[in-house]
Parts: sequence; C-alpha cells; structure tokens
Amino acid sequence: MSTVLDEVLSANAEYSKSFGDKTNLALPPARRFAILTCMDARLDPAKYAGLREGDAHVIRNAGGRASDDAIRSLVISYKLLGTREWFVIHHTECGMEFFTDEVMRDLLEKSLETAELGAGGFHDVGQGPGSQEGRFIDWLTIRDAKQAVVEDVARIRRHPLVPKTIPVYGYIYDVKSGRLLEIEEATRAGRAETARSVRADDVRIKAPETQLSI
Ligand SMILES: [Zn+2]
Repeated sequence: MSTVLDEVLSANAEYSKSFGDKTNLALPPARRFAILTCMDARLDPAKYAGLREGDAHVIRNAGGRASDDAIRSLVISYKLLGTREWFVIHHTECGMEFFTDEVMRDLLEKSLETAELGAGGFHDVGQGPGSQEGRFIDWLTIRDAKQAVVEDVARIRRHPLVPKTIPVYGYIYDVKSGRLLEIEEATRAGRAETARSVRADDVRIKAPETQLSI
C-alpha cells in the first residue's frame, strides 16, 4: 500500500470513530451558501471561512475559476439544494498566474511527466512522448489576479441560469496572512437585484394595464 493511501485510510478510520451527530446531517447546506475557490493545498475553506460539516457547498478547481463545470455545480447548489449567497475566492500567489495556455500546451506536447518551476517559469524535465490533446483545453490561466475575480463574478452574474437575487461576493485569500481581502469591483459586479428593485419592475410592467382599465 502506498504511504499516502495508508495515511488517508487510517486518518479516516480515526475520523469516523467520533462521527457522532453528523450521521443526522441533512443534504442541503444548513447555512445556505456556496464557495467557489482554488484547489491550492494552502487553502482550507473549512478553516478560513469557519465551516463545519453540513454548513455550505465548496466547489474547487484550479484557480477557483467560473468554468462551465463550476457553474453547473453552482446551479445545482441553488436550484436543488437552496443556497442563497455565493463567494468566489481566489488567492495570492496562485499557480494559475505562472503559465499561459501556450506554455501548458507546449509542455504537455513534449512530456506528460511533472514539469519543474524555475525562475523562467515551468519547464519539462521528463521524457516524452507527450500529447497534443492539451491544445483543445482552455486552461483558464490568470494574468491579473484581481481582474480574474471580477471576470468570474461577472460571468456568474450574467449567466442565464443564475437568478438575479443571488449575491456573488469576490475575494482574494492572502496566503501570507490567512485573511480574505474583498475585491470591491467584483462584489459590485455580483450585487443581487434587491426586492425593492424587483417590485419597482413589477410596478412598471403593471402600469399600462392599470391605465387601460381606467
Ligand atoms: Zn490557486
């Protein structure tokens, strides 16, 4: 058995011994919110956002990007499981800032083995053959950290399957301090339509009928 496999299974055996009341947790997240964040090993959403089992949905991918698949999960999160607020949380020093689509595609074309990160970026140290399949994937790399949060929040906000009533907050987690830093432009872009503005729309729509009946 690999060391990691052994460690994971023994940690799990310990965890399940004190599972207690968690056996009764409901399927929908109790605190009705979801977080989209990066898979970076330094980030632990349960700790940085104060989550316990059953509290919230956490969707993770490389960069915490609003990919089609992340949006698929978010839509399921509210449509079937009732979340009402969403966070997009990227972080400082994200690995997605250290390469471009072209770099990734070239690396994969040369070798499937793990590349190394040096002063000049990632470079291959392994053997070929590689594959050209990487050319068909949008790797959703990040050029500007703040702008990426704004783009992802805005993409979620604009998505036709996302109701206007769900606020989407944009943050960057600082890997040096553990703090969440708000990206105000993102949060502004992700603002929900308030109940008041929805009512105002209703009034505008109904107004001509009222006039006709008079
Ligand atoms: Zn990252």
